[in-house]
Amino acid sequence: MRFVFLGPPGVGKGTQAKGFAAQRGIAHISTGDMLRDAVKNGTPAGLKAKPIMEAGGLVPDDVVLEMVGERLEYEDAKPGFILDGYPRNPKQAEDLRVMLEQRGLALDHVVAFELDVEAIVPRLSGRRSCPQCGAVYHVAANPPKRAGVCDKCDTGLIQRKDDQPEVIRDRMKTYAEKTEPLIDYYRKAGILIPVEGAGTVEEVRGRLEAAVPVEAA
Ligand code: AMP
Repeated sequence: MRFVFLGPPGVGKGTQAKGFAAQRGIAHISTGDMLRDAVKNGTPAGLKAKPIMEAGGLVPDDVVLEMVGERLEYEDAKPGFILDGYPRNPKQAEDLRVMLEQRGLALDHVVAFELDVEAIVPRLSGRRSCPQCGAVYHVAANPPKRAGVCDKCDTGLIQRKDDQPEVIRDRMKTYAEKTEPLIDYYRKAGILIPVEGAGTVEEVRGRLEAAVPVEAA
């Protein structure tokens, strides 16, 4: 059960990955979450990553490779994992292939979530997240019970700096130029599963469950 979840920013892959991983007892590995933690903790990788993330660019491949390599060694990743936000360019895809090969492993499926560009901006600009536990909400589509407060840990919700409209445009550009070519790469490898990302969280979850072959469960 080794998955990559691919797709443009705001497509909902993180939300889907959390539920999917919890249900199947595999690790949810989000490089965005790991980098935000590194920024919050002021680690050397975090200091390097901060200005790049705020501008909607990609953090250097070697920084992310090291983080993912360490994370794959955790016990919870042994039964399987979902990589959410990694790889993000062809070099990272090759790094990942080699890293897995060294462990005698390979990817089983790459789920590519698809969404029209017009649907992305409202999704990202309405997104709010909990700086404490990482829970993610949307002001209209998935609001917390009390406005602006996390349901799980009572912390005040924040808007990510890179969810501001100017940065959203740059992230979309980065996605189109660097990440989107991976869809073809994995299609050619015969492991791509496309999933329509429009609609509610439950609708997308239903499509995801229907699309992922039973033998992968
Ligand atoms: P995300 O939460 O996946 O949208 O990631 C937020 C930001 O973290 C991205 O806009 C990038 O700046 C950085 N980032 C996340 N994953 C990667 C990666 N695999 N390679 C390079 N930068 C990344």
